[in-house]
Amino acid sequence: MDHLNRLHDLFRQFPGIGPRQAKRFVYFLLGTSDAYKKMLAKEILEIASQVTICSSCYRYFDNRGIDTHTCFVCGDKTRDSEALMIVAKDVDLEAFEKSKAYRGYYFVLGNTLSLTERNPESVIRTKELVLAIEGRAKAGLKEIILALSLNSEGENTREFIESYISPLVKMYSLKVSILGRGLSTGTELEYSDAETIKNALLGRKQETLM
Ligand SMILES: [Zn+2]
Repeated sequence: MDHLNRLHDLFRQFPGIGPRQAKRFVYFLLGTSDAYKKMLAKEILEIASQVTICSSCYRYFDNRGIDTHTCFVCGDKTRDSEALMIVAKDVDLEAFEKSKAYRGYYFVLGNTLSLTERNPESVIRTKELVLAIEGRAKAGLKEIILALSLNSEGENTREFIESYISPLVKMYSLKVSILGRGLSTGTELEYSDAETIKNALLGRKQETLM
């Protein structure tokens, strides 16, 4: 395979990128300066060496120059230790941080579950979630907020998580809530504005787990 096709195939693996868009990326790059291409290559290499995963919430963060395994949110002791928000992806966590409406801690599942998923535990961080809840429960956790998108994958993930964590919720007498009105059905959290996210959080509803 030649260089053009190799690069095209690499771009095709990006989420939401089809063959035509991948081709546009390749031709765009061909038209850029050497300096631009070098900068892009350098950033891609550095993302592998300097961006690491938080050992507490499992988001990606830049740990350059700081000797830490936790991100700045998890390392912030002034946050509300009574609340843990479960989100699907890093972008969802970022959306809540941007809205400034939430002061508790987070846990990133890493993915959502499709309706046909047969092996959920290989797709989302279930074992890590149990450890996180146990650890936080011993440190004063009272409420788990399931902040998942209101689409079929988000709903499916929420149902799976609710039954998965149900024994822990009972053991530690935790409250479980889901986001309230404000979010429109089918919309992904990452595309919701700060005001909508704030309202959905304020109007959250308590769930009764089976
Ligand atoms: Zn973290």
